[in-house]
Amino acid sequence: MSAGKKPIIVLRFGELWLRGKNRGDYINVLIRNIDMKFSGLKYGLDKHYDKIVIRPASSSFNEVLRRAGFLFGISAYEIAYETEPKLAAITRESCRIMKDAKGKGAFRINAHRAHKQHKFNSEDIVIKLAKCAEEKGIPVSPRRYAREIYISVSKDVAYISVSRSKGLGGLPVGSSGRCIILFSGGIDSPVAAWLAMKRGLEPVYVHMHAFPNASEILDSKIPRLIGILSEYHEGYRSYYVPTHRFQVAALKSGRYELVMLKRFMLKTAELLLEKEKSRIIVTGECIGQVASQTQSNLFSEEQGINATLIRPLICLDKMEIIDMAKKIGTFEESIKEYRDVCSISAKHPVINSNPKAVLRIENEIKLDHLASEAVKSAAIVESSIS
Ligand code: ATP
Ligand code: MG
Repeated sequence: MSAGKKPIIVLRFGELWLRGKNRGDYINVLIRNIDMKFSGLKYGLDKHYDKIVIRPASSSFNEVLRRAGFLFGISAYEIAYETEPKLAAITRESCRIMKDAKGKGAFRINAHRAHKQHKFNSEDIVIKLAKCAEEKGIPVSPRRYAREIYISVSKDVAYISVSRSKGLGGLPVGSSGRCIILFSGGIDSPVAAWLAMKRGLEPVYVHMHAFPNASEILDSKIPRLIGILSEYHEGYRSYYVPTHRFQVAALKSGRYELVMLKRFMLKTAELLLEKEKSRIIVTGECIGQVASQTQSNLFSEEQGINATLIRPLICLDKMEIIDMAKKIGTFEESIKEYRDVCSISAKHPVINSNPKAVLRIENEIKLDHLASEAVKSAAIVESSIS
């Protein structure tokens, strides 16, 4: 075998090595996600113990590489060359690859010999390669380096790479099941959705809207934001839930209107849990961020909700959330004007809500009935959900 002919792309697993017996299931979910992610491209795929090797057709190479950066469950991905797992071949090919590599400055040599039965070890690779580099005038330094070469040797093949990128990390989306995401289209909930996906949760978006009919909401920024998030995972379902009946009923709740709206949202999400085979509701709430997100309001709105409530942003600063939204790619769409139902609620919402008062108003306005009617009239959009 001779290296350098055809580059491949190696996807390295993140935390999957922690998974013990479930490892196989996680890898299968990852492979399903890879197939979805690379759909329309030409490539071959080999599954290994600690990595997946993608062999893209040259016409698909750059696009496979770009999309690999959007895959959860991958700790790193690299352009690599294969060679024989022999010390002489590894040294020769690595030296040649270093010589041809772009950029300037010294190399650090990282060698990992996963297959312990070879007659040489990682140190032998480093010593031999450093010597070869010296002869060819390629600078090498273990501490003051500008570039790196990675050599990993398995039983039948060695992989050599000078171009490794950090992956998104996390777990393959779907490997932790599904979650219901209360999705507002503001800055926060898209970031919360992204973090939920990062931990392997497949998103089911629930958006409450104030439009008289579904066609307007389907033409709004909400599906566009979901579209941006679907770059990270193609599979999702979204519910667009009308709120006009709730809004009429909630007029009586005065300064409690916003707390009741949040409660209505959580009740609606709770109703969808069984259908979506999920137990998790995710929100973009953050303690103290706005007047309504106080300790007592968060407590009042979630009483008796039979779900695991996850608020991934609860302790983040707004600037930290904004930085994440920019990196994810949702920020620009999030700040576009939109009349969210929250913004049309009472001007001075209660800060210290009384849980008993919340339950009383809830009974008065028949909140449970309103939530189940709202679910029935929701518009549903979905794409490649598992
Ligand atoms: P965001 O930037 O996500 O809109 P926010 O700081 O504006 O958050 P709120 O408007 O109080 O805060 O909303 C808090 C959370 O309530 C949101 O992150 C989201 O999970 C949920 N939420 C708000 N509005 C809606 C909506 N129209 N549909 C579904 N969930 C919503
Ligand atoms: Mg909002």
